[in-house]
Amino acid sequence: MKDNLLTKILVSFVLAILAGALIGPSIEIVKPLGDLFLRLIKFIIVPLVLASLVVGVASTGDMKKLGRMGGKTVAYYLLTTALAVTIGLVLGNVFAPGAGLDLPAIEEKVEPKEAPGLMDTLVNIVPTNPIAALVEGNMLQIIFFAIFLGLGITMLGDKVKTVQSFFEQLAEIMYKITGLVMRFAPIGIFGLVAPIVGKYGLSVLMPLLKLILAVAVGSILHTVITYSTSVKLFAKMSPVKFFKGIAPATLVAFSTSSSAGTLPITIKSTEENLGVSRKVSSFVLPLGATINMDGTALYQGVCVIFVAQFFGMDLTFAQQLTIILTATLASIGTAGVPGAGLIMLTMVMTSVGLPLEGIALIAGIDRILDMFRTSVNVTGDASAAVVVAALEGELASGQVDQVKGTISA
Ligand code: ASP
Repeated sequence: MKDNLLTKILVSFVLAILAGALIGPSIEIVKPLGDLFLRLIKFIIVPLVLASLVVGVASTGDMKKLGRMGGKTVAYYLLTTALAVTIGLVLGNVFAPGAGLDLPAIEEKVEPKEAPGLMDTLVNIVPTNPIAALVEGNMLQIIFFAIFLGLGITMLGDKVKTVQSFFEQLAEIMYKITGLVMRFAPIGIFGLVAPIVGKYGLSVLMPLLKLILAVAVGSILHTVITYSTSVKLFAKMSPVKFFKGIAPATLVAFSTSSSAGTLPITIKSTEENLGVSRKVSSFVLPLGATINMDGTALYQGVCVIFVAQFFGMDLTFAQQLTIILTATLASIGTAGVPGAGLIMLTMVMTSVGLPLEGIALIAGIDRILDMFRTSVNVTGDASAAVVVAALEGELASGQVDQVKGTISA
């Protein structure tokens, strides 16, 4: 039964698309099933990240190894993100989704938000009250707290054995719960996807079809080219095995549009299906779900070009370079929740002086674009876990050869 979970998810996916297309907006009635699934995976996140990261750091055993792992992780994240924006810009230019477009009114409104400055973001990583950070679910602050707890445990060693075992066991329990929740995934995914398809029938999508296509093609290109190359090159892992192993997480990301929400499944898939050690997965993945958003960066690249074309503005080469920089930063600051990327897009648009009304053009279909970018975000995090694990000698090669392509409870 366990082994065909991925198949069940795929079937429910196809059924959801059919049901949404045939029934239309009234399929909304199944939405509570989707919401329930979303809440179930979200409720795992905070205790899971805290416990697994504490264990991850405590078991690393020394600062040097941790620093090395951190350096590699961040370098990989920055590099792939910059590459993703570049692909986005190229596709925006090739597809020209905004050229000669005469858009009907799109009613959805977004409040453009000033993105927090880089300094503020950095300073805010340090929580003044770690318990408040846990309560609010502030990921970066939780990561900070967990790393220091882990370091403290390492330094004190045997004296604090009980606390260490407590976190080890808590992590174990959260993994178990993730497995249980995943059994509900086929139903939950149906509840998430069918209403979206029902709401956005073809007629809503048509005028912006080129934009959707540009983002979708970009997502596929970045995923296939960048991640295949990196897992093959650094981890000698077959890309097919990689994609199959991470598929449950990619599909959940597509359905939920939240990389933070998908995190428990990303961790489980990379460990069980791709052979990444817990030490690496529990460090690289929570960080990735918070700061690494290749899909979001790519989408911002495409959308900026789209808006520029729509308003008949030409972007100079220097402006396009500015976009690569700001989109990389903006994607780091994007929270792993639905719709966050659209708000951060305002920051990128401001950096090259584009009219913010452009956001309204995209808002109507943003949920669809979000599905693509979140899948890329999550797959990118997993590729980093595989690469860092390989570089750190933390990849179980035996397991890599027998990818199960599914998650067991
Ligand atoms: N929904 C995306 C994510 O969670 C963030 C975004 O809106 O770009 O990864």
